[in-house]
Amino acid sequence: MYLTTHSAVGIVLATKTVNPLFAFIFAFIAHYILDIIPHGDESIFNKDISAVKRYKKIISIVLLDLAITAVYVFFIMTKVPLSPVIIFAAVLGSILPDIIWGIYDIKSIKILKPFVKLHNFFHNPSKKILHLNIGLIGQGILIILLYIITI
Ligand SMILES: [Zn+2]
Repeated sequence: MYLTTHSAVGIVLATKTVNPLFAFIFAFIAHYILDIIPHGDESIFNKDISAVKRYKKIISIVLLDLAITAVYVFFIMTKVPLSPVIIFAAVLGSILPDIIWGIYDIKSIKILKPFVKLHNFFHNPSKKILHLNIGLIGQGILIILLYIITI
């Protein structure tokens, strides 16, 4: 699932607490729960192409996703009187499982393995493959709904 979607969920949860640590933990846990839903990102991680091409594609998507997340956070901060520390904690907690997964994909750091196993366990367990566009539209609608819930 896109980082923007995870961040939007994390920020909704952050509105329910004044404690950045709780915002971080709630958002971190929510990441795994949200990843259970089939979300159409399988083609992004297609291992049929060379590793270099795959990483270039993933990095491009992640950078675009992070830019959209930054715009989303900016708009939320102009609408909701939430502490920037809580928003930062929630966004970090919400995207950290994917960051860990990405780091582990590049370099198998032993301490990260349990988090990667947990991520793989929760990531689309039904193995239902959605088309990328369906995933984009679904997540776009979800982000709009989350924005409305948050403001
Ligand atoms: Zn994930």
